Amino acid sequence: MTTIKKLLVANRGEIALRVMRTCREMGIKTVAIYSEADRNALHVRYADEAVCVGPAASAESYLKGDVIIDVCKRLGVDAIHPGYGFLSENASFSQMVRDAGLIFVGPSPESIEVMGSKLAAKAAVATYNIPMVPGTPSAIADRDEAKVISAQIGYPVLIKASAGGGGKGMRVVENEAEFDEQMDRAVSEALSAFGDGSVFIEKYVTSPRHIEIQVLGDQHGNIIHLFERECSVQRRHQKVVEEAPSAILTPGIRAEMGRCAVDVARACGYYGAGTVEFIVDDQLNFYFLEMNTRLQVEHPVTEQITGIDLVKQMIYIAEGKPLTIQQDDLQIKGHAVEVRVYAEDPANNFLPDVGTLETYVRPQGNGVRVDDGFEQGMEIPIYYDPMIAKLITYGADREEAIQKMIRAIDEYQITGVQTTLPFCRFVMEHEAFRSANFDTRFVSLYFTPDVLKPAVDKAEEDLAAVLGAFLLDTQKPKQQTAVSAAQQRSRWKERRLS
Ligand code: ADP
Ligand code: ADP
Ligand code: MG
Repeated sequence: MTTIKKLLVANRGEIALRVMRTCREMGIKTVAIYSEADRNALHVRYADEAVCVGPAASAESYLKGDVIIDVCKRLGVDAIHPGYGFLSENASFSQMVRDAGLIFVGPSPESIEVMGSKLAAKAAVATYNIPMVPGTPSAIADRDEAKVISAQIGYPVLIKASAGGGGKGMRVVENEAEFDEQMDRAVSEALSAFGDGSVFIEKYVTSPRHIEIQVLGDQHGNIIHLFERECSVQRRHQKVVEEAPSAILTPGIRAEMGRCAVDVARACGYYGAGTVEFIVDDQLNFYFLEMNTRLQVEHPVTEQITGIDLVKQMIYIAEGKPLTIQQDDLQIKGHAVEVRVYAEDPANNFLPDVGTLETYVRPQGNGVRVDDGFEQGMEIPIYYDPMIAKLITYGADREEAIQKMIRAIDEYQITGVQTTLPFCRFVMEHEAFRSANFDTRFVSLYFTPDVLKPAVDKAEEDLAAVLGAFLLDTQKPKQQTAVSAAQQRSRWKERRLS
């Protein structure tokens, strides 16, 4: 067992800050790395020491494993936390870190390797009793054979990149006529995004919900799960709204999914924090999708409902300490919702809309957590993921967490770039979300850009009504005016006018 005294975070933005904050609480010194585009970034200012590792392009800075390891040697660092994205799921980097005598705060290179390939992952768990989506067990070599299999499985099917991640390299095929075209697209996307064109086929689960289980394993073979996160509100197969717990799981299914997730982790000798992703159909049948061998973007909702700091656990595990939490100690308390605040224009296909944060005022108050990496006046660089922040609310129950989220979104003031906030507000108010009767098709079923516009016009109309009523009120002091929810929502506009 070792004690980590100085830790380098091989990442940027909100997740770098998130990790450093826990380090500070644990008395661990922190080192930031940054690219030339991130010179003034918050994670650089927050760290005890910071080193520029290269130009803006990730390939020349944040992905330079050898340069990062050199920095560690020079500054007497004993551990590296990779965050998510970048080098976090790179088995050879984690091997290099070990070979340099440093601690990688994450799983073994072997676990990363196996789970980094969706096909290898399926093979690894095959001896356990884990439900899997029907599909091809290996990469497609012969298209005609693949078409025969697809016909057997039944359309629609999904062509998926084995090395895929972040929703890339995935194509839905509705019928055989589309097969070749979608196949070409999937292969070329997989090649350009992952340098590996292997693809396979899965049945496209209809009414699919994405529900994932957080796991923690130590280096002594103990593995526990920390319940689920519901991540079905997605655009481009990528999450925008997440919550814990899921509103639809029964305690029985939760326990069964938890057992499967622990088995998946066991199948690859897992230690560290990891996430086992499942797809759930409308009958609540669940199927293993993949395992992410890192800290997940949406991990805060799990922290809120369990009271466990996942980064702290990751550090203890990396130090070789046995888990002190037993499965039976864990309980779900309350409900948490997270929305991802991306610099994207929901009215324009969620295309990135980078620029300068002219106004940037965070929401505050009871039950609100903001994990971000920006301040007013800062620019959102075009080189990286356009996520500005994660807004998380926590309440006694789902309804309270949602109400807090609506209030927090209304307090959040961002100008200079378009963001996903208006879209997230639309989700929070939507009947399908409120009744928990939604799946990954939420955006395609319910969202069109014009649903955002009337909301603004409506607020303006309401404002006029409130002002009109106010004038009447001052003339006839005894007259009562009922203030509708919509009118209350438009109060921020009143404040701006006053
Ligand atoms: P999460 O999986 O944590 O819920 P995302 O799917 O948005 O969240 O992925 C987190 C980050 O990691 C994103 O920046 C995404 O682009 C990146 N990412 C995920 N998988 C890969 C991969 N295989 N290769 C490169 N980047 C990836
Ligand atoms: P990635 O590595 O890109 O995260 P995943 O396998 O986790 O790939 O899938 C990402 C998303 O794609 C899921 O959250 C889900 O919305 C959708 N998806 C994946 N597989 C299926 C499937 N078999 N049927 C329906 N939707 C799927
Ligand atoms: Mg996934």
